[in-house]
Amino acid sequence: SAEEVTASYLETIEESRINGFVAIWDKALKAAREIDAGGHKGPLAGVPVAIKDNISTKGLSTTCSSKILQGYVPPYDAHVIEKLKAAGAVILGKTNMDEFAMGTSTESSHYGPTLNPWDTERVPGGSSGGSAAVVAAGEAPVSLGSDTGGSVRCPAAFCGVVGLKPTYGVVSRFGLISYANSLEQIGPMATTVTDIATLMDVIGGYDSRDSTSINRKNTYSDALKDDVKGLKIGVPEEYFGEGIDKNVEKAVWDAIGKYEEMGASWKKVSMPHTRYALASYYIIAMSEASSNLARFDGTRYGLRAEEGENWHTMASKTRAEGFGAEVKRRILLGTYALSAGYHDKYYLKALKVRTLVKQDFDRAFTDVDVLMAPTMPTPAFKIGEKIDDPLSLYLADVNTVPINLAGVPSISVPCGFSGGMPVGLQIMGKPFDENTILRAAYSFE
Ligand code: GLN
Repeated sequence: SAEEVTASYLETIEESRINGFVAIWDKALKAAREIDAGGHKGPLAGVPVAIKDNISTKGLSTTCSSKILQGYVPPYDAHVIEKLKAAGAVILGKTNMDEFAMGTSTESSHYGPTLNPWDTERVPGGSSGGSAAVVAAGEAPVSLGSDTGGSVRCPAAFCGVVGLKPTYGVVSRFGLISYANSLEQIGPMATTVTDIATLMDVIGGYDSRDSTSINRKNTYSDALKDDVKGLKIGVPEEYFGEGIDKNVEKAVWDAIGKYEEMGASWKKVSMPHTRYALASYYIIAMSEASSNLARFDGTRYGLRAEEGENWHTMASKTRAEGFGAEVKRRILLGTYALSAGYHDKYYLKALKVRTLVKQDFDRAFTDVDVLMAPTMPTPAFKIGEKIDDPLSLYLADVNTVPINLAGVPSISVPCGFSGGMPVGLQIMGKPFDENTILRAAYSFE
C-alpha cells in the first residue's frame, strides 16, 4: 500500500547519514492513507517524491537552504507540486541544496553539506545535491531538482543517477523561487530513464501562471524504445578540454563506442563559443540573482533582524545576517554588472555571447540528432576541497552551463566510474526534442 511504502522510506530517512533532507512533510503518511482509501489511479499513485527546497510546497517549509528564509511556509503549491499531487504522488519532504541554488557542491547550504552516498568524504554535486543523494541512497525513489547551470545534471553525475534538464519553457516555473529565471528549469531525478519519462509526463505542460511556459503537447514515455539505429551523434571537442579527468574521458568514449555497436554513428563537431559560455553564464546568472533576491528584505518572508531605527536599517541587517557569503558575492557582482556605466560592458556583452553559444547549438543540430560529452569534467571532489576557491568551483560547470544559455534539453546518465566514483554521460538534444535524448538514454541503460 502507499502507506507501507511511505512508512518504509520515512524509516530509511530517519537512519540517514548523508544529510539529504532538510524537512520532512508531517502529513506524508496521512496523504498516503488517503491515496489508499480513495483507490487512486493516477500514474504516480502512492509514489513518494523528494522535492528540492526551492520549490514551493503549501504548508511545508521552503527555505532555499538559506537562513534568510527560515520559518517561511508557502501558502500555495508550485505548479509541479499540484501536478504531482494530482497524479497521486506523496511528497516526502524537502532536500538540501546550495543556498539559493548557487553552487556545484551543496556545501553552501545553511544546513551544512550533504554527503555523497558513494563516499561520504565527497560532495554530492550541486546545487540539487540533496535530491540526487537521497535517490542514490534509497531514501526516495525519485525527486525533483532545478537546473540553472547544471544543478540537476551535475549531482546526477556525481551520485550515479539520471537527471534531466528540460527545454526552457516545458516545465512551469510557477512556485520555483527564482535564482536566474531566464536560465532555469525544474527537472526530474531518478534511477531509471523510465521514471524520468513518467515524471515528465506528469510535470510537463502549459501553465498560464508562468509567462515563459510553452503550450506544446508531448508524451515523454512514448520515447522509451530500445532503438538508436541511424542516430547521428555529434561529439563536441570543446567539451573534452583542459583539466578533464582521464577516466571520465574514457568512460564517455566507451559509451559512444557502445552506441556505435547499437547502430548509431558519431562524428566530431566544433562549438567554438563554448570557451566563452562560462563567463557569459556567470554574468547573466549573477545579474538576474541580484534582482531576484531583492525581495528578501525582512518585510514579507522568513527572517527579520531585530527592528532597527527604520526600514532601511532593518532590511540591511536582515540581509547581512540572512545571506551566506556566496549569495552576497553574487548579489554584489550582479549589481555591479547591471549598474549604469558597466551594463553595456558586462551584461549586454554577456547576452550577445549567449546568442553566439545558442548559434553553435543550432549549427551543430543541422548535422546531428544529439550531442554527447561528459556531464562533469571530473568525478565528485572532496568536501572542503574547492569551497574557499569560488573560481575553481565555477570552472567545474564548464560543460553544463552552455545548455542553459541555449535553452536546449540535456540528460545525464551514469556511464562508468573513475576512482570508484560515478561518471555521467551528458546527452544534449534539439529544443523540444526531449524524446530523442530520452530514447538514447533508455537504449544505453
Ligand atoms: N553551479 C552553477 C551556479 O552556481 C549552477 C547552479 C544551478 O544550476 N542552480 O550557478
